[in-house]
Amino acid sequence: MPRPPAEAAPLGLFGGTFDPIHNGHLRLAEEAREALALSEVCFIPAGTPPHRDTPQTPADHRLEMARRAIAGNPAFSCDDAEVRSEGRSYTVLTLERLRAQHGKRPLVLLLGADAFLGLAGWHRWEEITRLAHIAVADRPGHRADALPPALHAALGEHISQDPERLRTSPAGEVVRFDMTPLAISATEIRAMLRNRRSPRYLLPDSVVDYIAAHSLYSSP
Ligand code: ATP
Repeated sequence: MPRPPAEAAPLGLFGGTFDPIHNGHLRLAEEAREALALSEVCFIPAGTPPHRDTPQTPADHRLEMARRAIAGNPAFSCDDAEVRSEGRSYTVLTLERLRAQHGKRPLVLLLGADAFLGLAGWHRWEEITRLAHIAVADRPGHRADALPPALHAALGEHISQDPERLRTSPAGEVVRFDMTPLAISATEIRAMLRNRRSPRYLLPDSVVDYIAAHSLYSSP
């Protein structure tokens, strides 16, 4: 089957609270880009995320840290629409907006296994794979091989390890890919900062400097 033209190469979409963004996020995006031949990965910091406690850090700070973290990588970009939106951040709404913008271009939602395993709790989750493909990376402590029954019933037949399947349709496939296991979490980084321990080398220096300059995460 002929490949779609370059401008229609799959676009990676990577949402998260990014509170703060760290090297686990950055490696997931970089390794997804290579393994899945994505032309670009767009980071989408959540404004008010519906699935968890409101992040302690104002969205503008989280957005700015994401911008600094990806600076210098021409294949990475940042979408501020969820941060700017008044409403709650629902992935399905973001995907509807991006689908309208990108026509039939394959869109690939990037998820760590912990996020993927919780997908059936997301708002209008069954519509998500009608709007985009999903690519899942295992994360230390979380593997995407034993799926909850609802996910298995809805997506089991579409799961593979074949990135070529992302190029043959705009949406609907689930592809697992390998990434270097990095046991880094934002929760752990926030705890280190609260306890006056250095998080250096777990996240980019530009983000460490921003956190220090704005005294983020220093109090509970
Ligand atoms: P927190 O500890 O606050 O829950 P987090 O480190 O899990 O934060 P999020 O912003 O919630 O970061 O995650 C965004 C996405 O990145 C999710 O899909 C999550 O699974 C994935 N992710 C985060 N850290 C890693 C990691 N170290 N390895 C693989 N995936 C990761």
